[in-house]
Amino acid sequence: MQLSDDIVYLKGVGPARAKVLAAELGVRTVGQLLDHLPYRYIDRSALSTVASVKDDGQLYVLRGQVSNIQVTATGKFRERLTCNFFDGTGYLQLVWFSGTKWVREKLKPNKTYIIMGRPSVYNFFWQMTHPELEEASSAGDDSRHPFLPVYNTTDKMKAAGLGARALARITENLVAQMPPVPETLPSPILERFRLMPRRDAYINIHYPASAAALDAARTRLKFEELFFLQLDYQFAHQQRVTASQGRVFQRVGDYFNSFYNEHLPFPLTGAQKRVIREVHDDMRSGRQMNRLLQGDVGSGKTLVALMCMLLALDNGCQACLMAPTEILATQHFATFQRMLDGMPIQVELLTGSLRAAQKKKIKQRLAEGEIHLLIGTHALIEDDVEFHSLGLVVIDEQHRFGVQQRSRLWTKAAIAPHVLVMTATPIPRTLAMTLYGDLDCSVIDELPPGRQPVKTYHRLEGNRPRVFHFLKQQIDAGRQVYIVYPLIEESEKMDLKNLQDGLEMVQNYFPRPQYQTSMVHGRLTAEEKESEMRRFKEGKTHIMVATTVIEVGVDVPNATVMVIENAERFGLSQLHQLRGRVGRGGGESYCILMTKDNLAASSKERIRTMCQTTDGFKIAEADLRLRGPGDIQGLQQSGILDLKLADIVDDEPLVRATRDTVRDLLAADPSLSQYPLLRQHIEHSKNKMLWGKIS
Ligand code: ADP
Ligand code: MG
Repeated sequence: MQLSDDIVYLKGVGPARAKVLAAELGVRTVGQLLDHLPYRYIDRSALSTVASVKDDGQLYVLRGQVSNIQVTATGKFRERLTCNFFDGTGYLQLVWFSGTKWVREKLKPNKTYIIMGRPSVYNFFWQMTHPELEEASSAGDDSRHPFLPVYNTTDKMKAAGLGARALARITENLVAQMPPVPETLPSPILERFRLMPRRDAYINIHYPASAAALDAARTRLKFEELFFLQLDYQFAHQQRVTASQGRVFQRVGDYFNSFYNEHLPFPLTGAQKRVIREVHDDMRSGRQMNRLLQGDVGSGKTLVALMCMLLALDNGCQACLMAPTEILATQHFATFQRMLDGMPIQVELLTGSLRAAQKKKIKQRLAEGEIHLLIGTHALIEDDVEFHSLGLVVIDEQHRFGVQQRSRLWTKAAIAPHVLVMTATPIPRTLAMTLYGDLDCSVIDELPPGRQPVKTYHRLEGNRPRVFHFLKQQIDAGRQVYIVYPLIEESEKMDLKNLQDGLEMVQNYFPRPQYQTSMVHGRLTAEEKESEMRRFKEGKTHIMVATTVIEVGVDVPNATVMVIENAERFGLSQLHQLRGRVGRGGGESYCILMTKDNLAASSKERIRTMCQTTDGFKIAEADLRLRGPGDIQGLQQSGILDLKLADIVDDEPLVRATRDTVRDLLAADPSLSQYPLLRQHIEHSKNKMLWGKIS
């Protein structure tokens, strides 16, 4: 037998079942069947007795004889089959409503069977419907296989007599005459990590010889899965890096040094220093930098961006910073002007709302190289914006800029500029390692000193008077407050209603003119939104009532309270982002999560996580654990979901090991000339690698 053989020739399959397997599981060959892995196992050594069964939803394995087999017609083509099962400790009734023909042929009175199923009580009797059934071998040797595999099956498969047990019998036949399974991993790696050979791993993942063998088989297959994922990403990365040459920013000059020595408003955190070093190393390597900078909200990414831009200036280049909204661009511009005050650096702001004459002027000065640093929105990538010598592009809050928008920047310089993408949406480390195996990634994992974590509380509707009273105290003490409502996408009208009801309630409690309220929601035009945000930012209003459209990254240091209404409707990372709007000034800050009384377990868990930690990475990890990678935004098409065995959270050591192994391997042999099998794999998977290029 060969892996490529049609399953139709396997013992126990035949044309009818082969058709069902192909339609339901996409399994056509022996090799594909081997890849349909059990999702769990039944430990056959764990035999129970009828006397000890419980109605607890668990599977029980029993050994005994059947008697009193009865078939009753229940419809024109339907019948029911029942029999008694006795194991010396008690009786249990077995019942079948379908597949009775097969059972009828199989069941013989007074023979010994192993049965498996979930017992329940019916009419005062223990009963088991549709148990898995297997004749115990006459020698009393039931432990041919200590573990029985359990496979996922579909209703159509069950109807065709291809339940989990039937499938297990087929794979048992397959494993008994296991075809050769070619090794895919280089032998030095097999030896180094003491991995089970591939063929043994496939045998043992279906029919483990022991618990230890199952473990070894799993590890081997997970390793392989992660190894090839890493190989794909890292090889692609290496190709890109060697293909695209970049400007060499060797010098650390006056701009950088005098800023560092004379203008730095506070000492850099260790993480900020490290990231600047990483970026500098990239920018002087001769290759074009493509780096993702992750840092929690408030970790000080702006300062890092500024200092990297100064390095570009020191090497005779211009730099630009692109923000997703006008208000953010304006905020960055103000920050840069403040920090660079007194330095001979020309900073300008280019946004859509400038008058044509102003725009024209800026563009002209930009092309002549008079402007050093340009800050702006996507107005920066308009066709007629020409740089004199663009050397570095920083993109803030990456998720708002599409790949296509970014790629337009390439046309703005003869040599592709270095690119630094900054995001405040933390990605769990293991995931980043896997997902961005082909991207350089820096992490600011340290907040500036003296930050007080935002105190987070969970409150119910009944607590509202006290919550509002607290808000009043804060506002009266000169602070500002956010109240955020969820966006229910199916019904924009409902959202607005929700928000307006909220606004009314807030305005009743906080009457004008003493208290002023802003409102921002998706129905407003961009200008209306900006102007409402601006009024709040300038302190003209005390309360910001908003749907989640409030801008990521907006800095209102005087806002100290974030109230999130219907907090149970938000995902963890969203809650974390929203909470990041407060705690930006010196004052003690608060986040209040309002929910209904009866929460689902998963909502409870999310709220609890939020109250317990303010660490963005911990939250991202909890998020991954609670939802699985499939739900995390943007990962749907990532290919990560194709992982069959490895778990991105639980198998972190393996993720690490495979990443490092691949890295070392590629460093020693970039073209994989010594590894024809790996080379072959790369050729084969090249076509699948089109997704997810950050640039
Ligand atoms: P984010 O990473 O969310 O973009 P910012 O760059 O806006 O964060 O920084 C948040 C705040 O922290 C700003 O007010 C900034 O001035 C301040 N900050 C940045 N770096 C430091 C530092 N090393 N020490 C103290 N404060 C800092
Ligand atoms: Mg920011």
